[in-house]
Amino acid sequence: MGIYLDACATTPARHSVLQKILEVEKNSWGNPSSLHTHGINAVEILEKSRFKIAKCLGVDISEIIFTSGATESNHLCLLGATASLTPGRVVISSVEHPSVTSAAKQLEHKGWEIVQWPVDIYGMIKLEFVDELLSPPTKLVSVVWGQSEIGTIQPVKFLAESCKRRNILFHTDATQMLLQGVVNCSEVSFDFLSLSAHKVLGPKGVGILIARDPKRHLIPIQGGGQQENGYRSGTPPVSLIAGTEVAISEIYDKNKISFAQNHPDIIKVKQLTEELKVELEKNKCIEFIGHPDKRLNNHLSFLVSTKTARPLSGRDVVKALSNHGVFASSGSACSSTHMPTSSTLFAMSIDEKWVNSSVRFSLGPWLTEQDINDVPKLLDQAIFSLSRVN
Ligand code: PMP
Repeated sequence: MGIYLDACATTPARHSVLQKILEVEKNSWGNPSSLHTHGINAVEILEKSRFKIAKCLGVDISEIIFTSGATESNHLCLLGATASLTPGRVVISSVEHPSVTSAAKQLEHKGWEIVQWPVDIYGMIKLEFVDELLSPPTKLVSVVWGQSEIGTIQPVKFLAESCKRRNILFHTDATQMLLQGVVNCSEVSFDFLSLSAHKVLGPKGVGILIARDPKRHLIPIQGGGQQENGYRSGTPPVSLIAGTEVAISEIYDKNKISFAQNHPDIIKVKQLTEELKVELEKNKCIEFIGHPDKRLNNHLSFLVSTKTARPLSGRDVVKALSNHGVFASSGSACSSTHMPTSSTLFAMSIDEKWVNSSVRFSLGPWLTEQDINDVPKLLDQAIFSLSRVN
């Protein structure tokens, strides 16, 4: 697989996850809505998976809605939680994933005022705006927990409590947090939280929206067969959900919620990331961005230049690295093939001439010490090859 440094884009499913998916697809392939034996088999697997996931994350089974991914979870939350309210103000941070900003855009067309919470140069929301933004007519706030492009971790516990005190709904996109081993929902007083299985060595195609009180706060945004208690119609992919349960249990199970951060994979990845950072700090052609310590512990993001301090294109660096067997990312994974510039870096007031120069390394437990030792010199070679061309 080469040196895969793109965990924030996606992760390879664990062997145990793949085995589970195959087993369920072979033996329990029924539609969980069917009344016959095949349906009963499938619904048993589905509900067992829901039960185990709920236990791992510290929520009740009635709070879990399976979706197709975090993109759908974010849409279901923003559109579904506002559907029964008279339009007011929705506040999102200015460093949200495009799935949140595009759902917010849809709300704008329905008469909602959308305000983007400003961030500082580290991409951290500016807390001096709390009183101004968490005041009427704000009805919903959505702030990403761990930002995928720059790694900055936002103060979501504080925000969730601040919103609760003011009767404002609070949603956080926690997609990048599962692999950190820190998603213990009983510790954060959010109303909605989005997750995605493929960021935690699970399969692509499964997301979760945790909704605290869906009966009160959530209107479904698509009709159909009324699956997921009516909140998300469509036949659930039982085998993939069972695989998701295996992936989450691997890190969060064994009644060790508060010790999930001590999972050997998480410790290893954190250590490798720190080692790589120390080596990369010696490279004069890169400048780290994002918060220096309140950041995802598998994440390094930086701007790249030539030795003469001329900005290089992050996309060119990523392509050159790929030629050297190192697989990284520039900008957020989902936008890197479409959007030439990063709205996140703009929001952080990074000089315009540098906004296309970002590169992200996001690590996972598949990496070895040798991989990490090789990366600095391969990055050097990539930068050198581009410096000659440009
Ligand atoms: N939110 C964040 C913070 C993400 O990093 C991503 C994936 N890049 C998404 C949402 C979208 O997730 P999915 O691919 O599961 O739709």
